[in-house]
Amino acid sequence: MQAQSQSLDHLNCYRLPWNYSDNGISWLEPTTKCNLRCEGCYRDLEHPVHKTLEEVRADLEVFRRLRKSDCMSIAGGDPLVYPHIVELVRMVREMGWKPIINTNGVALTESLLAELKKAGAFGFTFHIDTSQNRPRAKGWSETQLNAVRQHYAEMLARVGGLTCSFNATISARTLDEMPALVAWAGEHADIVQTMVFILFRSPSLDGDFDFYARGRKLNFGGTYKETEWGGGESVFAADAVAKIRQADPAYQPAAYLNGTINPDSFKWLLADRVVLDGQTVGFATAKFMEMVQTASHMARGRYLYYASPRTTARGKSAVFLSALFDKGMRRILWRMLGRMAANPLRLFKRAHMQSLMIIQPVNFEADGRQDMCDGCPDMTVHEGKLVWSCRLEELHKHGCFVDSVPRPSLH
Ligand code: SF4
Repeated sequence: MQAQSQSLDHLNCYRLPWNYSDNGISWLEPTTKCNLRCEGCYRDLEHPVHKTLEEVRADLEVFRRLRKSDCMSIAGGDPLVYPHIVELVRMVREMGWKPIINTNGVALTESLLAELKKAGAFGFTFHIDTSQNRPRAKGWSETQLNAVRQHYAEMLARVGGLTCSFNATISARTLDEMPALVAWAGEHADIVQTMVFILFRSPSLDGDFDFYARGRKLNFGGTYKETEWGGGESVFAADAVAKIRQADPAYQPAAYLNGTINPDSFKWLLADRVVLDGQTVGFATAKFMEMVQTASHMARGRYLYYASPRTTARGKSAVFLSALFDKGMRRILWRMLGRMAANPLRLFKRAHMQSLMIIQPVNFEADGRQDMCDGCPDMTVHEGKLVWSCRLEELHKHGCFVDSVPRPSLH
């Protein structure tokens, strides 16, 4: 499945400057324990382990030595079942990163949320989708799960000051529901800062391969399972772009990370929309993205990943300022002024910036090569080295990353 994507040319987008040693974000896994079991999850949940706080500190020291980043994603497993989560958030903050808690939300209570905020949490990314069979939402569709998303967004808004993001894994079976998620996020741009769509991948969807570790052939079936939920077909970034446009026809991604093999594959595709009064006024341009990353790096020595709700609520100022330098942003400014002229009450309403992101993880090429995200933001630490977090299980199980070799054709 690969839709033609109108006017989506990587050379017209801003190539995010994130790289191996200087990035917007890094990925920390204090635990492999989880309280849900998502379809297609590749973490070993049969033998869950918590790291000690000292082991996690050692991982953070590796990051500090090898890589700059703005944010630290605290993931897992589910980090809220990690017994030292509050101390860990404090430690991450004290070491100079913005702590972002990547959780399914099941273990989150208002009192834990208040404690985490006090410890220095910058924000949450809630992973919510139909692959999870959540206890109180069994059989719910993606669209129905918007009620669960709203529950967490409102919980964060009540506490205030925390950035709120959602991840949803999208498979061929759930692709058609993407527009409902995009529309819901737009209606709640005042309390939802980011919506991320992660496209479900499985090696078996990309071809017929044998797998080897250090020259030894493996039974790889148990590591990355293709499940019925996966829909039996790969979904690509262009398919997701077409779906988002059904909900928001103006949708125009402006920044990206390419693949390590294909310079024109969109592994991370980022769009920022300006929403006023529940309606999209326009999508930020590639030049705007470049100005934000460059200004952040010049001012703070780090590329920006998540912005605070206070910053994203300054959509009007962002448009006014950037319009001084960029023709594309001037067009958004005129449109915004037009909307305010049509309804002067909008003069007193905030315009919110909201990010829509598509992530298309590893692809297996026909010749067996693996197209990873170039400038991977989700690098984690394994035995003192930076490695792709999406392939950590290969290191745990086989001691190295696995090679894929196409099976000889019988014809
Ligand atoms: S390479 Fe893997 S870990 Fe890195 S950003 Fe892509 S999917 Fe995530």
